[in-house]
Amino acid sequence: MSKTVTGGCFCGEVRYEITGDPVLQLLCFCEDCLSITGTDGYAGYMVKSADFRVTSGTPRVHDKISKEGRTVHRNFCGICGSNLWGVTEFGLTSVAAGSLDDPDLFQPSKKVFTSNTPHWARIPDHLDEM
Ligand SMILES: [Zn+2]
Ligand SMILES: [Zn+2]
Repeated sequence: MSKTVTGGCFCGEVRYEITGDPVLQLLCFCEDCLSITGTDGYAGYMVKSADFRVTSGTPRVHDKISKEGRTVHRNFCGICGSNLWGVTEFGLTSVAAGSLDDPDLFQPSKKVFTSNTPHWARIPDHLDEM
């Protein structure tokens, strides 16, 4: 049995819980993620959308169609602006690992979109390119 994982935004307005194990953990360096995070990449703790639920607050949602033509529904706190999670078309929810109550739970094994990153991006050598 996996334990329940919880997290939320900086101000505490939006809280969530995850009841299943992550299906994938990765660092994404795509243009969208650089823009969303304001830094060199996005730490995605990806879970099945069915295992994820909001427990308090109502996030704001911004829909973005990626270059590949896929829509991502990006959820963030309307009060403090914290980037929280993105819901993809594949039934997966990519939770921002920094929003987990215990960010050490994030153990990335993959990295994606590592070309075209700014020269100052910190791309870990030990992760497999996806
Ligand atoms: Zn907030
Ligand atoms: Zn990305």
